[in-house]
Amino acid sequence: METCDTCGGLGAKSESDIEVCRVCSGTGQQRIQQGFFSVATTCRSCGGQGKTVRNPCGTCRGKKRVPKTRTIRINIPAGVDNNSRIKLSGEGEHGIDGGPPGDLYVVIRVKKHPIFERDGSDIFCEVPISFPQVALGTEIEVPTLEGKARLKIPAGTQSHKIFRLRNQGIVNLRGGNRGDLHVRIVVETPTNLSARQRELLEEMEHISDQDSHPLRDKFMNTIKGFFS
Ligand SMILES: [Zn+2]
Ligand SMILES: [Zn+2]
Repeated sequence: METCDTCGGLGAKSESDIEVCRVCSGTGQQRIQQGFFSVATTCRSCGGQGKTVRNPCGTCRGKKRVPKTRTIRINIPAGVDNNSRIKLSGEGEHGIDGGPPGDLYVVIRVKKHPIFERDGSDIFCEVPISFPQVALGTEIEVPTLEGKARLKIPAGTQSHKIFRLRNQGIVNLRGGNRGDLHVRIVVETPTNLSARQRELLEEMEHISDQDSHPLRDKFMNTIKGFFS
């Protein structure tokens, strides 16, 4: 609700249209006789205002304020999270009779990101990678909030290993260090193999041994006892 532009918050067509209420003589109160007693109540004629308006403003119908919709630009500080409240002083509803305007509180809801997941000031990101890449070691490009960074993947890295990129997370609203970016490597099992790919993998499996697959070898030895 904002002050009516037509009457400037007067509620009447002009100053002379406002007069002292005749029923209550401007006190805003009425005395009603109830048996032996006389009780004071709010004046029914003027609603306690003490004044009546002869010709109400046509725009606000005497209400002094009108509903208005405005779009304003606001700054979102880095680091806001769900339910962060931003106070915009004086952007609330206008007061009546020259009263100060209220404040507008904007409550933030953070949208889901297609790549990053957030936990406080830390962010997480899953990066699929091929089996030969992790087996041989490589360097990959990973997304960051600002763009991208290069990440060295050592030979023999296992699936779901997390690499931490310090200070690549979210700014802490209350000051202090930025959070970290955690990159989780997920090995993608190859699918839809061509004949040549299948041939190479079969050969690879044929010559793999306990040095190249120590976990599998250890597991197989452990369960041998259960089978026999
Ligand atoms: Zn009155
Ligand atoms: Zn008006």
